[in-house]
Amino acid sequence: MEKMEIKSFTLAQLREEMGRLGEKPFRAAQLYEWMHGKLARGYEEMSNIPAAMKVKCGESYSYTALKTVQVQESAVDGTKKFLFALSDGNLVESVWMRYRHGNSVCISSQVGCRMGCRFCASTLDGLVRNLTPAEMLDQIYAITLETGERVSNVVVMGSGEPLDNYENLLRFITLLTDENGLHISQRNVTVSTCGIVPEMRRLAQEKLQITLALSLHAATDEKRRQLMPIANQYTLKELIACCAYYFEQTGRRITFEYSLVRDVNDTKRDAQTLAALIRGLNCHVNLIPVNPVRERAFVQSKQRAVEAFAALLQKEGINATIRREMGRDIDGACGQLRRRYMDNSSAVICKTDES
Ligand code: SAH
Repeated sequence: MEKMEIKSFTLAQLREEMGRLGEKPFRAAQLYEWMHGKLARGYEEMSNIPAAMKVKCGESYSYTALKTVQVQESAVDGTKKFLFALSDGNLVESVWMRYRHGNSVCISSQVGCRMGCRFCASTLDGLVRNLTPAEMLDQIYAITLETGERVSNVVVMGSGEPLDNYENLLRFITLLTDENGLHISQRNVTVSTCGIVPEMRRLAQEKLQITLALSLHAATDEKRRQLMPIANQYTLKELIACCAYYFEQTGRRITFEYSLVRDVNDTKRDAQTLAALIRGLNCHVNLIPVNPVRERAFVQSKQRAVEAFAALLQKEGINATIRREMGRDIDGACGQLRRRYMDNSSAVICKTDES
């Protein structure tokens, strides 16, 4: 049987595990502090843990420590893109961005993705596997160690559909926001979904203070179905009702992500339809000029069309911003660095909620 990862246990679970190994409960807190507070890369760093206990832990659990395969740094804005190898050799990517109000990391939640969005590189080869809580956390830990700077914001907007990996995502959030770990505030965590309605409802009921970002990308069912297969399962009506429910349950404003594709969803009419669709909701719209993916034929909207789209939404009383693209010069984003590394091809941009 595969060993459990010691870094995926909550403190309470770790106490139970230590009990099982015949160790004293205070050892759990010590271990936890090494793993999630001091970000130890292995047992050898843990100076106050007895050697025999380290051996026992090593025999009983695996210790996640991602290997950095590649780091690219943007000469324009200092954004860094990391490619990490997991213990089974799979690759994931994460992006580190520096903002005036703190550092933000965009992490992956799965290797590959099975959602099939037409413009997205992460999904081209389907889903390989879910990431564990420890593997999600370790992207942030590795980046903190590499940059030597504290991370204050985390966005789950890299490769993968986080709500397709629900249990692991929730454990990850618990560990990330835990006061004995990095203690990142829930309000500084954003989870982006393509819109799996039942999982969004389930998440609403957790009553977390995280931000939910919904990848909308179209304002009619017909258009959305052309871009995102998930739209065949849930209508916009269901989706918008679900967003209202999320706000009702959590008091958190929804972020809508809307990638602008030239002549597909970027016209004045599209903006008006979008405004009508979301009017009255407590929300914010992030407009992102689509990043062309080599394997797909989508073309980025002209700057003028992007600005006109934003202006029209604002005129309709809808809070909208154009997302600043970070790391443009380093193949900034989700799913593409991994592909490029694997087949030596090309890339995108990773986005956060805060441009
Ligand atoms: N599966 C989640 C999170 C990962 S993708 C989701 O769908 O939200 C993060 C965001 O990047 C999503 O809004 C996604 O639609 C968008 N995206 C993916 N590829 C893109 C591209 N080539 N150009 C612009 N945005 C893209």
